[in-house]
Amino acid sequence: MEPFEIQILGCGSAKPSTRHNTSSQLVSLRSKLFMIDCGEGTQLQMARYHASYARLNHIFISHLHGDHCFGLIGLISTLGMLGCGHAHSLHIHALPELEMLLRPQIDFFCHEMPYEVVFHPFRADEAAVIYDDRSVTVQTVPLNHRIACCGFVFREKLGQRHIRRDMIDAYEIPISQMGLIKNGADFVTPDGDVIPNERLTTPPTLPRSYAYLCDTAPMTSVVPYIEGVDVLYHDATFASTESGRAQSTFHSTAAQAAEIAAAAGVGKLILGHFSSRYDDECPLLEEALAVFPHTVLAHEGMKIEVEGSS
Ligand SMILES: [Zn+2]
Repeated sequence: MEPFEIQILGCGSAKPSTRHNTSSQLVSLRSKLFMIDCGEGTQLQMARYHASYARLNHIFISHLHGDHCFGLIGLISTLGMLGCGHAHSLHIHALPELEMLLRPQIDFFCHEMPYEVVFHPFRADEAAVIYDDRSVTVQTVPLNHRIACCGFVFREKLGQRHIRRDMIDAYEIPISQMGLIKNGADFVTPDGDVIPNERLTTPPTLPRSYAYLCDTAPMTSVVPYIEGVDVLYHDATFASTESGRAQSTFHSTAAQAAEIAAAAGVGKLILGHFSSRYDDECPLLEEALAVFPHTVLAHEGMKIEVEGSS
């Protein structure tokens, strides 16, 4: 199966601390590498975990609080110095104001860039597919935060059928026919016998999906957009003892994140965006586990393989 992996670079909220970096993560899907959010210190985290700069061509920014985007100008500058993999362009998907804020800094600090920075604005008040290639789509999901904010759902597209090794040998299927058969064609033997595709292949692997919902107060309106995703990363800034604080800052408690995960029937929940008031997030995990058993705490460097439901 082709890789579909999430790596957490930062899962703390508000400000960097010795315990957590601010928000950023990498989504590696087939041969592509995407970044979601880019808090301060993201470059150091990439170096620490040996993340590739060369494959990084698309960055998705959920909203314009500093802990989700202060790392961008530094990363853009470094990519300019490295020059690798960016002969063409770096694409940043964000709310429209980001280009207004960042373009003067790019012009000032990065004026001899070997690649172009292309901004792709999206609206925060509607769900929309904002990225689409042959293997994946990325859809925005409007969230409920102090300022305009969107989550992202990565959905793998249905792959090709798998050719059975024993059928290749049995019918001496030439390499030139493999692509057609993977796409559903029957095979015609040199004697003119038609071998139906169902006999030659097994069904494609079920597409996998990943949802990132941060920052947000709990909102059931997201459920239809994330129904059945394999992995959900959800804002869990506070424990339930701080539910008033969660409400006033438009964040979620761990238990509320678990309620959303349960309502959407996701495969696995990752709690993140922890308040720096916690030296130990185990109480957050415990309250979430009481609601939704397939829950883990995010931590820096953590890798999560997105596995399909079957
Ligand atoms: Zn925020």
